[in-house]
Amino acid sequence: MVDVATLLNDGGWTVAESRRLRDRARTLRDEACAIVLTYRAHRFRVIRGGNDGEDGQRHRTILRAVAWYPAVKTFVGSSRGGLCAVCRGLIRLNDVEYDIEAGPWKVRIDVSCYRLFVEEMSDALRA
Ligand SMILES: [Zn+2]
Repeated sequence: MVDVATLLNDGGWTVAESRRLRDRARTLRDEACAIVLTYRAHRFRVIRGGNDGEDGQRHRTILRAVAWYPAVKTFVGSSRGGLCAVCRGLIRLNDVEYDIEAGPWKVRIDVSCYRLFVEEMSDALRA
């Protein structure tokens, strides 16, 4: 027969170990995001006149890395002008733009990239 103190001790250890593993998984996910965002674009360098399919895939890869982050915040507003962080397209003054915050990542994107982001976010939530 196991006494209450032992059960409480075992339960406390299990909860602590679960938190430790969750923190480790979060760290690994952050590192994977950093690797993708740092190196992936170089593998799929944009070539003028190249196939849009590769660009689209590269954009999705970046957006997927952000979308799969556990806590994502999205803000929408009028642009003060600038470039989309994903496709490097021009966001004109007063056009709609989206700011996405996912852990250490903060990206400003245009409407077309936001549509891709929503699709990736939907996939992330289904997984
Ligand atoms: Zn874009």
